[in-house]
Amino acid sequence: MLLEADLHTHTIASGHAYSTVKEIAEFASLKELKMIAITDHGIKMPGGPHEYYFSQIMGLPSSIYGVEILKGVEANIIDQHGNLDMPQRVLENLDLVLASFHTDTGYQAGSVEQNTRALIAAIQNPFVHIITHPGNPEFPVDLEKVAQAAKLAGKALEINNSSFSLSRPGSTPRCNHMARIVAKTETIVSINSDAHSCFAVGSFDKALEAAEMAGIKPGRVLNTSVNLIKEYLTSLKQGLKKIS
Ligand SMILES: [Zn+2]
Ligand SMILES: [Zn+2]
Repeated sequence: MLLEADLHTHTIASGHAYSTVKEIAEFASLKELKMIAITDHGIKMPGGPHEYYFSQIMGLPSSIYGVEILKGVEANIIDQHGNLDMPQRVLENLDLVLASFHTDTGYQAGSVEQNTRALIAAIQNPFVHIITHPGNPEFPVDLEKVAQAAKLAGKALEINNSSFSLSRPGSTPRCNHMARIVAKTETIVSINSDAHSCFAVGSFDKALEAAEMAGIKPGRVLNTSVNLIKEYLTSLKQGLKKIS
């Protein structure tokens, strides 16, 4: 499976990441990616960006070193209703909204039932495009129910490459389990690096291996095609217009 885009990267604005937008785009170009998303953490992340950071992000070029740039956020889920730590006026201006649980950002991990309810509510939040690292063992969820909810909402779940090595220890069996479930339910998947430095941009090897082993079809993986990503985002944004 060949991937054209990395939809989850962090810059120095996240407070615990080490590269600039320019460096990330440059490495993406070297890796022959066609598109990247800059998705710094939401405002409740300790050391993360202030809301004002996102007010200027749309001023960045739409393409750097020949790589298309989506401007986004990895927002924090803050409660059981799927609310995020980002104001609606900011979310509606961004190209891409990732959402997930992170420690020290407002949501206290509860029971599997409580976490599952919160994650499904986030899936149903009309501003959310992709749920990142749902296999995080710190916030265990019922992955079957999550995959079904994502399928129903037409939203993508992420297989996060960093979860297999650097981040969220203990994720590997849960990510492999999720890969098998989403292969069966045919839920849309996004495979991303979650790069916290330019050197990890476009690193997909472990997540890709898990997806392929589980039998996920390339047509269900957003990143296999920039056109697929654009169609996906356009259709979700049209759904949002109908609601508002
Ligand atoms: Zn994250
Ligand atoms: Zn991240």
